[in-house]
Amino acid sequence: MFNLQIIPVSAFQQNCSVVWDNQKRATIIDAGDNAEQIIQFVESQQLHVDKLLITHGHLDHIMAVDRLRHYFGVEVYGSHQADQPLFEQLPQICTQYGLPTVGSFVPDHWLNEGDEIQVGNLVFQIRHLPGHSPGHIGFFEMQNKIAFTGDVLFKNSIGRTDLYQGNFEQLIDTIRSKLFVLDDDFIIMPGHGAHTTIGQEKRANPFLKISHYDET
Ligand SMILES: [Zn+2]
Ligand SMILES: [Zn+2]
Repeated sequence: MFNLQIIPVSAFQQNCSVVWDNQKRATIIDAGDNAEQIIQFVESQQLHVDKLLITHGHLDHIMAVDRLRHYFGVEVYGSHQADQPLFEQLPQICTQYGLPTVGSFVPDHWLNEGDEIQVGNLVFQIRHLPGHSPGHIGFFEMQNKIAFTGDVLFKNSIGRTDLYQGNFEQLIDTIRSKLFVLDDDFIIMPGHGAHTTIGQEKRANPFLKISHYDET
């Protein structure tokens, strides 16, 4: 059984995702802010947090992670190591955005393409999804056909590419080669806004529609 609660966090309304199995073994993906609210939810459901996962190093995805790591006494997995400078510069980046400073930290484990993360009886495959940030990864739960892909692909939109080592061509290539190879009914849970499916985005996403017309 797959359970999911989205908690919108930070000034950026980031979709912090709490996921748990039938024995209440849980993970928190992208604890971006509002640690107290996340803790309150976890305790209200009597979940046992097993690990913390991170898609990428942008502040709206990581500001509450170190706090929760200590609170729950668990380890942090992800992103890919290419995002390390973003973790190390977190205090300065908070200041740039006019937010209260959060101390820098690094995850316990960097992740790579092909790695697998187990949370209770849920298994997440890791894919490297660069373009929005260099070390961006996604967590793919193949049994339930749902992926947590941060700021790569949104409903009718894509992630911005004007931040640290962003790259538009690379992002489009990532979406086509790592996401559009999934089944049409595969659910994408993005870092912001509504969830969507691969089929929906193949049909309607203006950034990814085939740019030429059929002869008919
Ligand atoms: Zn981002
Ligand atoms: Zn974001």
